[in-house]
Amino acid sequence: MSMVEVLWHGRGGQGAFTAARLLGAAASLGEGKYALAFPSFGPERRGAPMCAFTKMDDAPIGDRSAMQQADFVVYLDETLLGADWERELKPGGIVLVNSAKPTAYFGDQRIIALDADAISTAYLGRAIPNTVFLGALCALCDRLESIDVHAAIRQYMAPKLHDKNIAVVDAACAQARVAAQAFGEVATLDNAEALGADEPTPEVVSSQDESASAMHPPRPHSIICTLQAGELDPQQFAHTTCFSAGHLVTKNAGWRNERPVINGALCTGCYQCYFYCPDGAIYKAASSVPVAVDLDFCKGCGVCVSVCKFNALAMISESEANRA
Ligand code: SF4
Ligand code: SF4
Repeated sequence: MSMVEVLWHGRGGQGAFTAARLLGAAASLGEGKYALAFPSFGPERRGAPMCAFTKMDDAPIGDRSAMQQADFVVYLDETLLGADWERELKPGGIVLVNSAKPTAYFGDQRIIALDADAISTAYLGRAIPNTVFLGALCALCDRLESIDVHAAIRQYMAPKLHDKNIAVVDAACAQARVAAQAFGEVATLDNAEALGADEPTPEVVSSQDESASAMHPPRPHSIICTLQAGELDPQQFAHTTCFSAGHLVTKNAGWRNERPVINGALCTGCYQCYFYCPDGAIYKAASSVPVAVDLDFCKGCGVCVSVCKFNALAMISESEANRA
């Protein structure tokens, strides 16, 4: 079997490199199995886009460079899925994206959506989407067995995380099979050629998908845009990530996976969050609640929650906030 390559897109703090390593560890268990995993970081900052790579082969891997195209491209954050996603996908490859939207929303057989934030929150208590996609790969990649992913988790994660992450893997594996079957067949690498770009989109869409699809019309082809004064459509804002670097200069709503919410009944007005927020995104408010968050500039780091001694701040996922 030829080399299988997985390209992970995520943001600092989402565990993309951990997933890449665990995948490599799982794929290299057993005689005659080899794997390589390495990251490529952008700005060393929580929330910043980064990549990780896993190569799996039946022979020693000599090429230690980053791949340009992969058999599986995983997006731990939906906002990183740009209009040019096909460029990184090998023929017959599959994209996996963390999204609460149904797979049908993306309108392409090669893209499978999983609500990894919801799955991980159900088992781990918070949105840590990385191991969800290990489970999904167990369902979609013939080279990977869930029993080996379980073993890698036991070998490389802290013991207190074993059972919950193994449960995440198993749940995600089951959901990925269902998501793939919603398009008519389970997409394994062996039959992935049948899922090429030229194939028409199958008409097998569940009633749940139909209603969700009506709520989320197909996204326009040109999702990525740069911030130009007066030109940014707020409707596009949460989908965009291509903003110039800056500190309290450019709005960064596209960065966040989670946002802080204030419980006004518990807030004492101690202003610790105001002092500690690294981006000055908390301001003194002229209202019954002494502080407020400027969500245009909050990057979702959670520092404010950590310093609040009165439990008046909590982080919620962006998808949860958008549903509210
Ligand atoms: S999460 Fe809190 S500390 Fe971090 S940028 Fe937002 S408001 Fe500031
Ligand atoms: S740290 Fe907590 S209690 Fe203090 S002002 Fe901020 S939200 Fe209110």
